[in-house]
Amino acid sequence: MKKTIYDCYRSWIEVDLDALQHNVYELMSLLDSPQQFMAVVKADAYGHGAVRISQKLNQIGVSSFAVATLSEAIELRENGIKGDILILGYTEASQMMLIKKYNLIQTVVDYEHALSLEQEKIDIHVHIAIDSGMHRLGLTTHEFQQVKKIYSFRHLHIEGIFSHLCVSDEHSLSSQKYTQYQIDSFFQLINKLKKEGFDTGKVHIQSSYGLLNYPFLHCDLVRIGIMMYGVYSSKQDQNNQRILLKPVLSLKSKIIHIHTIKKNETVGYGRTYQSDQNRKIAIVPIGYADGISRYLSNYGHVIVHGQKVPIIGRICMDQLTIDISDIDNVKEGDIVTIIGQDGNIYQDVETIAEMSQTISNEVLSQLGGRLPRIDKEVCYEEKCL
Ligand SMILES: *Cc1c(COP(=O)(O)O)cnc(C)c1O
Repeated sequence: MKKTIYDCYRSWIEVDLDALQHNVYELMSLLDSPQQFMAVVKADAYGHGAVRISQKLNQIGVSSFAVATLSEAIELRENGIKGDILILGYTEASQMMLIKKYNLIQTVVDYEHALSLEQEKIDIHVHIAIDSGMHRLGLTTHEFQQVKKIYSFRHLHIEGIFSHLCVSDEHSLSSQKYTQYQIDSFFQLINKLKKEGFDTGKVHIQSSYGLLNYPFLHCDLVRIGIMMYGVYSSKQDQNNQRILLKPVLSLKSKIIHIHTIKKNETVGYGRTYQSDQNRKIAIVPIGYADGISRYLSNYGHVIVHGQKVPIIGRICMDQLTIDISDIDNVKEGDIVTIIGQDGNIYQDVETIAEMSQTISNEVLSQLGGRLPRIDKEVCYEEKCL
């Protein structure tokens, strides 16, 4: 008998590549025409599966990518991804052969890093990180002399220079002022470099919220992560949208076991749930090792047959329990939606994030490696992958 994906896997992630395309075009509509769209696909494309996401992006004309680590960059190249790949994080100088071999772009994270890269005597492409006030990576805006020195290094081919905003998502007056201060100090440095005749290469400072809230900076490129996946970092940000985003990811599992418990019986580790009457409960094979936070124990919901049902007891490493007493005709094998649409009910990742006391970015990037990522369109075809 032929089987669908849903017969084959205990739990899985559905990836809607049409939604991805929609979001990219929507975000691109905020750009001036010469501005480049750099897709941030670090952390396995925020849990969506970096290779498949990047292949689709290549197909729709995106040719600029950012990742966090060397191994993430190599994975993309080994799977045929074309275009620029910028490593945003630190890479040891000893790895520069690989940067060259795979034709990658390395970020220079400070002056000492630049020196160590230059001493390898391997010609590589780099972008220089500038710390304009986040105080994470980069040469500070006061290290003008050191920045200039890096331009004289023979083996470092400087193709860009960038900074990162730390409160561009916040709307308080002090956050807006701080962002403006970061933008001003970054562009002062850029203008000084240009005045002295340096070719800065691509200048960039905006990520998703930088583009949404500060769209008129006229940079050469924007680095877009979370919003490309159709998601805001937190629930409050869903208001005041200037663009329409469609979530790319759904998270599904299924009921594998149903039983009834009597009044006063308890469920799970710690016996944190006690039933007030006879209850019909179901076991769902997904747990905190798959990225479902234990904060959702006795608190979160999932969707079954288009109805919201509560998670009861503590979430285990590989399984969780739900109360299906109020739903008729539930049987083993029925689909459980944790993130996404079922019938008229939609549970968004922002809700899961809020209940897990974190942001969407963390929820998505924590989705475990053992969950298969499946293109939405093949999810219900009659075959096993
Ligand atoms: C992760 C990251 C981004 C992407 O940020 P989003 O808010 O997800 O768009 C951009 N730039 C840098 C330096 C990053 O580390």
